[in-house]
Amino acid sequence: MVEVRPRVGVSGCLLGSPVRYNGGHSRCRFLTDELAEYVQWAQTCPEAEIGLGVPRPMVRLLSDGRLVAKDGPADHSRAVAELAERSSPGWGELDGFVVKARSPSCGLFGVPRYSAGLPGERTDGQPVDHRGRGAFTAALTAACPDLPVEEDGRLNDPGLREHFVERLFAHARLRGLLSGGWSAGDLVAFHSRHELQIMAHDPQGCRESGGIVARAGASREETARQYRRVFARALAVRPSRGRHVDALQHVFGLLSARLNRPCRLDLLETISAFEAGLVPLSLPVALLRHHAVSRELPYVAGQTYLDPYPRELRLRHYL
Ligand code: SF4
Repeated sequence: MVEVRPRVGVSGCLLGSPVRYNGGHSRCRFLTDELAEYVQWAQTCPEAEIGLGVPRPMVRLLSDGRLVAKDGPADHSRAVAELAERSSPGWGELDGFVVKARSPSCGLFGVPRYSAGLPGERTDGQPVDHRGRGAFTAALTAACPDLPVEEDGRLNDPGLREHFVERLFAHARLRGLLSGGWSAGDLVAFHSRHELQIMAHDPQGCRESGGIVARAGASREETARQYRRVFARALAVRPSRGRHVDALQHVFGLLSARLNRPCRLDLLETISAFEAGLVPLSLPVALLRHHAVSRELPYVAGQTYLDPYPRELRLRHYL
């Protein structure tokens, strides 16, 4: 299978572009120093793209979702909606998006919202709540509900970071498959390689996607549409430690007949140590992968669960 480089949309200020209202940036080191080597960025700055320029007056989000000037009467909501409409054809080519936290245009969660003058709202100039979504990101997530979207602050959490990156690479592989002249056999091979990875996230989604693959052939377009949706939604479920343990034990079960007793005991002990939080996920995964490769078991060795993204990112060292 040809590995495809993920295409990732990003708030430009996170890559160090000086596009903030004050001419500064909000460079995110994980993106620029670690992830950049493995992905292709599609950067945007919604406020600059709607013509506000740099530097520019500050904007704020209102409780009714409008994006307006902090001081003055300007309402930029229509311009953002038009930008979203122009950009949306390109969103289908993306494997994910990283947005700037708390921005009234780009934030994903917890953006401060100010009074739109609705009955009962405070009038002292303070936010009415911190439950908003930036105007541009709201349009993005409404148009692409299955696209992995994260914000820079949450990427500091090792679990959220690993989950997001895993989804980027899985989306890219599926995009690579479906954008070519694929056959039902290609989809079967893709699903077979991803089976344990999907199962670790969502066993029900794994069964559902397997059913779509089994029925593949009637309408390629409909099959692709259904598989893409179920695959994305299954991977959007964050795997618990228990689900990882189930997946590791499943891999162990596929290998055990080919292993001697000391190897089996060593693996079981390592999986138990991961379950108890004594060793990171990277350890049992590396051992299982090693045994699968050395015993020449291609079905197991080829499982994306054991190799979901470039190892150099070392994200499972912290799970
Ligand atoms: S948060 Fe979004 S709108 Fe603000 S500077 Fe960054 S990219 Fe531009």
